[in-house]
Amino acid sequence: MAEADTTPPAANALAESQLALRDRLVDAGRLIPTGVAGLFGRDVVFEAVVSGVGALVAAAGEDDHPTRVSYPPLIPKVDFDKIGYLRNFPELVGPVFSFVGDAADHRAVVERLDGDAPYGDLLTQTEVTLTPACCYPIYPSVTGALGAGGAVFETCAYCFRHEPSVDPMRLQAFRQHEHIRIATPDEVLDWRARWLERAPELLSALGLDVISDIANDPFFGRAGRLMKMSQREQQLKIEFLVDVYGDEHRTACSSINYHQDHFGHTFGIHTDDGADAHSSCIGFGLERCTVALFNQHGTDVAQWPSPVRDRLGL
Ligand code: AMP
Ligand code: ZN
Repeated sequence: MAEADTTPPAANALAESQLALRDRLVDAGRLIPTGVAGLFGRDVVFEAVVSGVGALVAAAGEDDHPTRVSYPPLIPKVDFDKIGYLRNFPELVGPVFSFVGDAADHRAVVERLDGDAPYGDLLTQTEVTLTPACCYPIYPSVTGALGAGGAVFETCAYCFRHEPSVDPMRLQAFRQHEHIRIATPDEVLDWRARWLERAPELLSALGLDVISDIANDPFFGRAGRLMKMSQREQQLKIEFLVDVYGDEHRTACSSINYHQDHFGHTFGIHTDDGADAHSSCIGFGLERCTVALFNQHGTDVAQWPSPVRDRLGL
């Protein structure tokens, strides 16, 4: 006998809307399923929208003259461990494992493969981890004295978070386009104040219904509850939430995080006065923005309002 479904009706309705949007994107060819939840290929139209959004995010921060850097979607394990991600978000991490061994060890792996059995315990953790946020590789690179005025960076990369979901807004592999400020607390807060205006302007100019709200990260466990509360009280995370599944289920297309001195302290980054540098970053989820746009304007970009197409260079 099938088990009774104890999911509340509201959650079912939300999951149905998520599935319906995913199916619309797959049927139109924008997303190509792989058989794993949250892992898709993208077609050329999807990528054109991603590029258009990325160009707008770059342009919005141009006045700050950021240093543009690119990293692969990997971070050294030592840096990842120092940042504390495994402590705070253990269920999201993506450490990379590989095979290290001799012929006999390899035979054991092949035996497991032949028997369709798990083989993770026969692999060894490597020196790299999939990065869950594209700004993470930057902080370890700026160790030492920052110089007057601090630093502004811009970067974009694929990120990994193990959060399989039917929701096409929540992927396991997605790109973030980020601007990052590392400086004195006043300089960082000035920069953040500018983005608090720029981000909703950027998203609403694309026809998205966006509001800003104070938020918290999904810190794990009992200790995490305290961290969630303190993050909210101090207004360290502000999200730009778009209406895709109804006003009560908004999704963050972009967020600003104020890390205070976390990265400055962890990686020995100092301001002119010798204090630990403060930092903040704003990240736009390029797939989130793109899926929200397909939801808003339809899966056929030829039918989109021309001001939106013009802005995105489509
Ligand atoms: P966060 O570091 O959690 O503040 O994330 C920054 C931005 O990345 C969010 O505002 C989203 O736009 C995007 N993002 C985060 N997680 C996911 C995900 N699982 N799938 C797609 N986009 C995501
Ligand atoms: Zn960041």
